[in-house]
Amino acid sequence: MIEADAAAATDSDDDYDAERLRLIREVRQRLESLARAGVDLLPRSPERPHVPRSAVAARVVVEPPPAPEPAAPPPAATRPEPAPQPTTTPTTRTRPAPTPAPAAPAAASLFGATEFKSPFIEPADRPAALALLAEEVAGCVRCAELAASRTQTVFADGSPTARLMFIGEAPGADEDRRGVPFIGKAGQLLTDMITKGMGLRREDVYIANILKCRPPENRDPLPHESSNCFPYLERQIEIVRPEYLCLLGRISAGTLLNTALSMGRLRGRWHRVFGIPAIATYHPAYLLRNPAAKKDAWEDLQMLMRAMGLVVPKKKG
Ligand code: SF4
Repeated sequence: MIEADAAAATDSDDDYDAERLRLIREVRQRLESLARAGVDLLPRSPERPHVPRSAVAARVVVEPPPAPEPAAPPPAATRPEPAPQPTTTPTTRTRPAPTPAPAAPAAASLFGATEFKSPFIEPADRPAALALLAEEVAGCVRCAELAASRTQTVFADGSPTARLMFIGEAPGADEDRRGVPFIGKAGQLLTDMITKGMGLRREDVYIANILKCRPPENRDPLPHESSNCFPYLERQIEIVRPEYLCLLGRISAGTLLNTALSMGRLRGRWHRVFGIPAIATYHPAYLLRNPAAKKDAWEDLQMLMRAMGLVVPKKKG
């Protein structure tokens, strides 16, 4: 039936997008219905590869890079340019030491929970769980230098039940002052990418960073700082259980994918983090300094949109 629908839909991109969106909504509604009924485990599909929990690094490519499509939207502005991206082969970097991989489970949860340490949290309970975690983070002094220099911790912004989570690097000056991630000029660009580019509302997604404290002078996070703070991000992902992740910039992608590959080699294809499909793309701050890269970032977002069942704007002209 699905194949027949797909074949018929090839006559029209609009029909195809609409049908795909409808199917995704139906499946999602069905899963949510099962979850409300207390069913939180379903048999794993035999063709679905199991990604060990410890393999926040072993990312599985699930879709080839898309054919180039034209230009992107957004504005311009500040934030220090990231250091040149390394081109070395993958190495262990800022990630915490991996925990032993569990034995392959007999079943997977609705949202791939077998990749997580903690159980599924009902959507209604997520705001409280995140608030509790945010409170813990607010008192954190694991990184002495950051704890001493921060104005406040910057936990996250957005919906506790978001389908999509953006993960950046660390708060900047504006974020440190206001306690909200991505609110400076780079944040405005990210907001434009979400709203004008993807057609979503910023409050519908979840936005977090690797570090919850601003590094002095906006320097790169040090390896021990990323390791110290990673458990908080891991917990945020576990609570929100997004369907998709978008890793912004080389620090975020390098940490979560456990690689030193350049963004040029990481973008344009799918990875997995805790079993969650993830893409890597340029950090908005980098795009502000390198507007020519917006085209690539827009291609990455379109790949994400197709997977999410969102309608991708047609090429003009
Ligand atoms: S960066 Fe993270 S781990 Fe380090 S002090 Fe801030 S909240 Fe704690």
